Order: sequence, then structure tokens, then C-alpha cells
Amino acid sequence: MNSGKNFSITFEKNPSPLSESQRKSILQDPGFGKSFTDHMLLIEYNTEQGWHNARIKAYGPISLDPAVCVFHYGQEIFEGLKAYKAKDGRILLFRPEANAQRFVNSAKRMAMTPLPEDLFIHAVHEFVKVEKDWLPDQSVGTLYLRPFMIASTPYLGVKPSPNYLFMLIASPAGSYFSKGAKPVTVWISEFYTRAASGGTGEAKCGGNYAASLVAQQEATKNNCDQLVFLDAAEHKWIEEMGGMNIFFVFDDGSLMTPPLTGTILPGVTRNSILTLAKAKGLTVREERYAASQWIKDIQSGKIREVFACGTAAVVSPIGFVKDKNGEYTIHNGQPGPITQDIQKTLVDIQYGNAPDPYNWVQ
Ligand code: PMP
Repeated sequence: MNSGKNFSITFEKNPSPLSESQRKSILQDPGFGKSFTDHMLLIEYNTEQGWHNARIKAYGPISLDPAVCVFHYGQEIFEGLKAYKAKDGRILLFRPEANAQRFVNSAKRMAMTPLPEDLFIHAVHEFVKVEKDWLPDQSVGTLYLRPFMIASTPYLGVKPSPNYLFMLIASPAGSYFSKGAKPVTVWISEFYTRAASGGTGEAKCGGNYAASLVAQQEATKNNCDQLVFLDAAEHKWIEEMGGMNIFFVFDDGSLMTPPLTGTILPGVTRNSILTLAKAKGLTVREERYAASQWIKDIQSGKIREVFACGTAAVVSPIGFVKDKNGEYTIHNGQPGPITQDIQKTLVDIQYGNAPDPYNWVQ
């Protein structure tokens, strides 16, 4: 099958894009996930033709039969990555091949036909070229890219769909850190869990996020910004946040993050931080950590800093932790030096402001 760079993607220009002044006004203060660019990309799959009918066209509603199985059985996966504008105007992507690979893994877990990795990357490149005027300046943020795929065969019955629709949309995003990385308050979710062994925790499928919403509501009710999930078997071991991985910094300067055991989403940011921290000479461990021990270590001063990490916010310091017994403060509720150093190192590479020894940037 023809994939990757040789795969032709047709382009039909949006006849009525937003005006330049409307676009510029959005790009000055985009927020997150509120506005979308002028175009979208679609590629279809069926068993006779394979991946076909790849096109970039005007952004807008799509028409689907009410019986398509994504509406009933939730066969859906997605990704999240960003395009960055370098100071010299170049447009950069950060490790898109890692997202392409995770998209393949997610597809396999959901019994969907994987989109070839080189086609994923080709689609991202072509789409970003079309939408290059939608990149905010470095001081403002990035262009967030949302590839996703749905089961598109109309039928009722629980079985894998023979047809799929891959799409790519983009949304200009303000950077969380332009206003300073404000430490967040997290809620330890003791009842609700995110993923069980053998489940879909390491796949990026919509259902995982639907299932997390009620736990997020509980966190909000307890005046927390985000939540920390524990494992499903014992409700004891720290796993991850609703949409980010978590790192702990100890008083000896070492870092620890929960291991990837199949129930945690393998974050691209998590993986990059493991590499960067080791290169800085820090000791890094991937080990299970009980929530009760975490609280004790905060109280005894053994925990110095804690941060969450993911594509959207990059690195987000955690200043306060709450559970049903009380509230605990980390590093006086301020971002710690290791958190800030790792954030700066990573962001400088992503924006092309620092050398890229790992060839992460395209
Ligand atoms: N965990 C979950 C549940 C997530 O949704 C995300 C965001 N994709 C992450 C971790 C962080 O992953 P990444 O660094 O690849 O954005």
C-alpha cells in the first residue's frame, strides 16, 4: 500500500476562511481548545481500498449515519501534539513519531486498523504547512494538533468496524507557562479508578476520559484543580493524573515516577523528562509509590517537589494535595527549582531555542 510521503493528500482551500484580523485577534490570546483553524484533514479506510481519499478541506461539521458504531460502542482513539514557532520563523514538531507510534498501539488495543506511522507523520506535516499562519508567536503559545480516528461503519452489534475515518484538526493554544507556572491543587481519588490491569489504561481512547469525568467532578467539589488516580486493584498505588503523568522529587535530589505497567498512559513528555533528568545527572527511578507514603513524605519533608507533565501544560507544579483527611503543602506551594529547570530545558528544545541532542525536533 502507498503510505507516507508518497501518499497523495488533495487540498481544497476553504473559500471563506476567517479574516486576517479575526485570526490575529485569536492568536493574541487563544486560550485552550476554543478556536479551530480554517481546515481539517480526513483519510478514510475500508477493507477494499485500504487508506484512501485523503484530503484537506474547509473545517466544518461532518455528516455521519446515526448507526456508525463509534456512537454506540465507543471505538475511538486520539492523540495530542503541538507545532511550535521558532524565533527564526521555522515551524517545529516535537517527537511526532512518538505520537504516531502510540496511535498505532492505541488502535491495536481497540481492535481498530492502525494508521501507518509514516502516513500519520506525513498527514501532520502537510496539514501544518497549510495552517502555518495559525501558529501563535513563541511568547503566546503553540498550535495544538488533535489527530483522531473513529469507527465509521453503520451497524449495531459489538464487533470491530471494517471502516474507519481518521481526522486531524488544530487549535491555537496559549502557553500555560507564559503567565508563570502556577502550582495546582490535586485531589487523591480513593474511590474512582482510571484503569485496571488488562484494561485500556495505556491506550489513548475517548472512553478513558469519559470514565474520568465523575472523578474530576469530585476533585472540583473538593476545590481541587486536578486529580490523582490510584491503582484499581488495591486503591493504594499512585498511577497518574486525569491527563498527565506525575513525578516526585525527593530531598536527595532524586526523581521518581510510577512505572508503565499497562494501566498508565505512556506520556511523550514523561519519556522525554526521564531522558533529560538522566542527562542532568539526576537519579531517576520508575517505582510504585503508595499515596499514604506520599503524604507521610510530604509531612516529614522527604518530598521536595512534585510535578505533573503532559503535552498541553508541559510541566505543571503541584503545590497542594488533598484527601479525605486533610490538605498537605509541597515546597510552600511554590514551583521548585528542579521542576522549573526541567520545564525550561524541555521548552527550550521544543521551541528550537536550545540544541536538540536527541533529534526530537522536526
Ligand atoms: N496521561 C494521560 C491520561 C494523558 O491524557 C496524557 C496526555 N496525552 C498524558 C498522561 C501525558 O502524555 P503526553 O506527555 O504524551 O502528552
